[in-house]
Amino acid sequence: MSEHTAPQGTDLADLIVHLARLGQSCGHAEGATALTAAQWTALRYFARANRFSRTPSAFSEFHATTRGTASQTVKSLVAMGLLARQSHDSDGRSTLIEVTEAGQAQLRRDPLRDLRGVLAALPGASRAALADALAQAIADLARLRAAPVFGTCGDCNHLDSKASYCHCTQSLLTQPEMQSICVDFQPARPPGQS
Ligand code: SF4
Repeated sequence: MSEHTAPQGTDLADLIVHLARLGQSCGHAEGATALTAAQWTALRYFARANRFSRTPSAFSEFHATTRGTASQTVKSLVAMGLLARQSHDSDGRSTLIEVTEAGQAQLRRDPLRDLRGVLAALPGASRAALADALAQAIADLARLRAAPVFGTCGDCNHLDSKASYCHCTQSLLTQPEMQSICVDFQPARPPGQS
């Protein structure tokens, strides 16, 4: 799209919201337990979050909701057998939330898979440009709202990449953990800089 036809921010905001709602609609989630949008978001979050972030309070920050509301969402998924509370000995945080086997089966029927497929079919350059633009918009909006930004270790200021060591949590990181989203993430590139 040329500079002359670039859409206004209002149009883009409407498109993003429409895309998100369409992507989350449950029309193609055959066989899946009926979940609310908040429950789907929580299930996806706990499947993607690292061990420092699999708590109801971290989810409340990710979902931009209150701790009480986040706790109720988690509680409902635990009651459905899709999430479980598990004690975690190694880092002193008493309980972490884990996705159960039933939860993993539910995620394989995630209605968001259609949106993932559509995005995966875009040309690589379009996906890269979209990822950059969305990351910038998320960072700018989070700064305006004084909200945390979630991200992964590869883009985080706390990472010693040579040692796979996190200076924030003072922990060695495994490769799978480095692909997971984190509540302690700090963008290596300050918001507002491209
Ligand atoms: S390096 Fe950053 S994203 Fe990775 S675990 Fe540490 S704080 Fe979280």
